[in-house]
Amino acid sequence: MGATRAAAALEAAGLPCVAGAPLASRAYWRLGGPAELYLEVDSLDALVRAVQIARAHAIAVTPLGNGSNLLIADAGVPGLVVRLLGQLRDAEIDEATGVARVGAGLLNAVLLKRLERAGWAGLGCLAGVPGTMGGAVRMNAGTALGVLADVLIDVQIVDVDGVVRTLPAAALAMRYRWAELPAGAIVASARVHVHRDPDGAERAAVAHHIARRAATQPLDQPSCGSVFKNPPGDFAGRLIEACGLKGTRVGGAQISDKHANFIVNTGGASAADVLALIRAARGAVFARFGVDLEPEVHAAGAWGVDWPLPPAAAHVPSPGAQP
Ligand SMILES: Cc1cc2nc3c(=O)[nH]c(=O)nc-3n(C[C@H](O)[C@H](O)[C@H](O)COP(=O)(O)OP(=O)(O)OC[C@H]3O[C@@H](n4cnc5c(N)ncnc54)[C@H](O)[C@@H]3O)c2cc1C
Repeated sequence: MGATRAAAALEAAGLPCVAGAPLASRAYWRLGGPAELYLEVDSLDALVRAVQIARAHAIAVTPLGNGSNLLIADAGVPGLVVRLLGQLRDAEIDEATGVARVGAGLLNAVLLKRLERAGWAGLGCLAGVPGTMGGAVRMNAGTALGVLADVLIDVQIVDVDGVVRTLPAAALAMRYRWAELPAGAIVASARVHVHRDPDGAERAAVAHHIARRAATQPLDQPSCGSVFKNPPGDFAGRLIEACGLKGTRVGGAQISDKHANFIVNTGGASAADVLALIRAARGAVFARFGVDLEPEVHAAGAWGVDWPLPPAAAHVPSPGAQP
């Protein structure tokens, strides 16, 4: 009921949304159900109005970046799913200060290309991360070359009431694959430090890093990158592989035989298939090593289970059980 009224209010505000829009094609894993309501906004003002209308009708708003770290439930996502386009994909560099303002909907790959063409560097940490700036802030995305927190100055957010606020990076308490955004906040843009790269050092490091990923990760199959965060001093992939789970399948989902911390969609996988493998890997690693792997991947939608998942002990398989 709230969603129907919210859809009518959005339409009246010049923000027509789509009811029941498929999301699988917008998520890297290529699976999951539809959005109850789906809206693409192309300006900060449109985003603010959409959030205010959703708030007034008591429906949740889920920001969708490039869907590269998102497990969307088979039952779909209740409420309003919002994607940031248009002006929210702009980037501008202040040449005098070396500060770039980047729209949260801008893809990392496009941003890096634009910076390089303009003779700037500084965001090599996002090379090969197939998301948007909004997703990068949310996840404190990064690689062996660094993390977004290294260069982030501040973020402009639209809070749950539809109020635009600027938060300094320090307020986000960024840590490994996590930023402490206020509940329900949507990042609209971020300001980051950039610098010149006269000797091409960053370009060379990025090229090396990209080649290494291609050799070690199943980049030709739909996935969400690393499913679990690495535990301190170890690697989730090493632990899962040591449990003999490489290649394990549930339905169309498989623990990659190239990199055990990747779950790939080999065709027709459901979110339930992926969740079963997540539980199997987590339970097996906990049973064998006593390490509780924490999912890095985010979940969206109506699951009928708790997310984040309960502690690993709940998933330890009984002897002889199949995943
Ligand atoms: C092949 C592959 C390799 C990967 N390698 C890496 C890697 O090396 N390092 C790394 O860190 N990650 C990696 N990832 C994971 C993923 O790309 C990152 O987490 C990325 O930052 C997610 O961005 P996104 O725009 O796709 O976000 P989404 O997947 O769309 O969303 C992720 C989370 O962020 C939230 N979100 C998205 N946009 C906003 C916004 N504007 N405001 C507030 N919240 C928002 C979503 O609601 C969700 O909770 C990889 C993924 C794949 C598929």
